[in-house]
Amino acid sequence: MEKADVLIIGGSAAGIVTGMTARKHYKEVKITIIRKEREGQVLIPCGLPYIFGTVGAPEKNIIPDTLLTANNIDLIVGEATSIDREAKTVTTARGKSIGYKKLVLATGAAPIIIPIPGIKLENVFYAIKDVDYLNGLLKTLDGVKDVVIIGGGFIGLEFGDEFRKRGLNITIIEMLPHCLQLVLDEDFCTLAENKLKEKGINTKTNARVDAILGEKRVTGVKLAGGEELKADLVFMCIGARPETELAQKAGLQIGETKGIWVDEYNRTSDKDIFAVGDCAEKRSFFTKKPSALRLASIAANEGRIVGANLLELRRRNEGTIGSFATTIGDLGIGMAGLSEAGAKAAGFDFVTSEVKTPDKHPSSIPGAKELRMKLMFEKASHEILGGEVCGGSTVGETVNILAALIQNRMTANEVATFQYGTHPFLTPSPIPYPIANAAEAALVKLRCFTPL
Ligand SMILES: Cc1cc2nc3c(=O)[nH]c(=O)nc-3n(C[C@H](O)[C@H](O)[C@H](O)COP(=O)(O)OP(=O)(O)OC[C@H]3O[C@@H](n4cnc5c(N)ncnc54)[C@H](O)[C@@H]3O)c2cc1C
Repeated sequence: MEKADVLIIGGSAAGIVTGMTARKHYKEVKITIIRKEREGQVLIPCGLPYIFGTVGAPEKNIIPDTLLTANNIDLIVGEATSIDREAKTVTTARGKSIGYKKLVLATGAAPIIIPIPGIKLENVFYAIKDVDYLNGLLKTLDGVKDVVIIGGGFIGLEFGDEFRKRGLNITIIEMLPHCLQLVLDEDFCTLAENKLKEKGINTKTNARVDAILGEKRVTGVKLAGGEELKADLVFMCIGARPETELAQKAGLQIGETKGIWVDEYNRTSDKDIFAVGDCAEKRSFFTKKPSALRLASIAANEGRIVGANLLELRRRNEGTIGSFATTIGDLGIGMAGLSEAGAKAAGFDFVTSEVKTPDKHPSSIPGAKELRMKLMFEKASHEILGGEVCGGSTVGETVNILAALIQNRMTANEVATFQYGTHPFLTPSPIPYPIANAAEAALVKLRCFTPL
């Protein structure tokens, strides 16, 4: 029987980063990854939408297997079907048994499928991370005109924007009053919705799809009020559920948000088995309560924690802050930490401050965009709780700066005086530098100018 010191089930963001980190911390151990995807077939999950307009093919959106070979990580292609915790073995669908000292579950998440009439019709598609499936979707898109996307979260919007580049008629249906409302406040959601309109993408908010219409293949969708919309293809984007079947069969504890329960070191209820990424339960950095946030950046972060913790505990998981950004056309929009709505729901008493400034200086530099930023600071501690940002391509790294400030629990005074670098082509001007200026504006509201 093959044996590994560290056996990882799952070969995407969480599994790969766990393996790479383990190799750095533990030079001599034998590390093996089991995953379903064949060689050269692991998709960059966040790149899925861009296959359909920008990149052109699933094969151009692949995580290279050289990450494994360069780190001396062995690969078994196959499906793990059971875990024997007593014998410390994992069995695959083909009957192969692999022994382990430490096991890591990085089995990810799969799209949620809702049992509405018509859900099994031809031309109902999902964001499934599989090369052959996505090639099928790519081929089908060539023969359709009207596409309905169910779900106005960031994944639905990204697919809508890319499908639109193929000249298709797109309608996004969202149950909430605004697209992106699960993560952003209304004012920022509106900025995204305006951009969708400008790109010719229709949105129907406060709307629920009751049925997908058609005999064999999709012909339309029916909304709760009875309205029918024509559709040749329906793309479902209503969220993902953690893949926990293996863990459940092995008797591991499952958490409140249906992820595999883990402690602050990402150990499951069996101390020799860890869980990372979308399959693992998360806790909020702010409240320590279960959190349903699932992102590749969180998966990679947990991989860095578990990779270090495998043979001795070296890193603690302080909980998910959540930093994310997306684009619609040339608009970048994102957030880190809590939104206003999120901070209210978590019971914080806080102030907000807003600034606007060009993201390059002077604003006559080609490609300069207005950068709009809102920050939240807790009244009692003055600590930064979150921020929302809208602008151009600098938004992605701007929200990452905010995440670092949040992780370090910096106060408004510390944020106002944090040291940054600027350049005319690359950043806003040092004078109206948005993060520092928003913090300064918050200090005025907090009425806090304490002498040294
Ligand atoms: C369209 C789309 C866009 C996204 N965009 C972003 C973004 O811009 N930024 C961001 O941070 N996040 C984004 N996400 C979320 C991100 O994709 C996930 O958070 C990330 O993929 C989680 O990584 P993971 O390794 O935990 O799981 P997954 O990527 O789901 O990988 C799971 C792995 O486990 C393997 N596996 C599962 N079960 C078994 C088994 N029984 N035996 C063997 N192998 C098994 C699979 O084969 C796979 O290799 C996006 C998601 C989607 C769908």
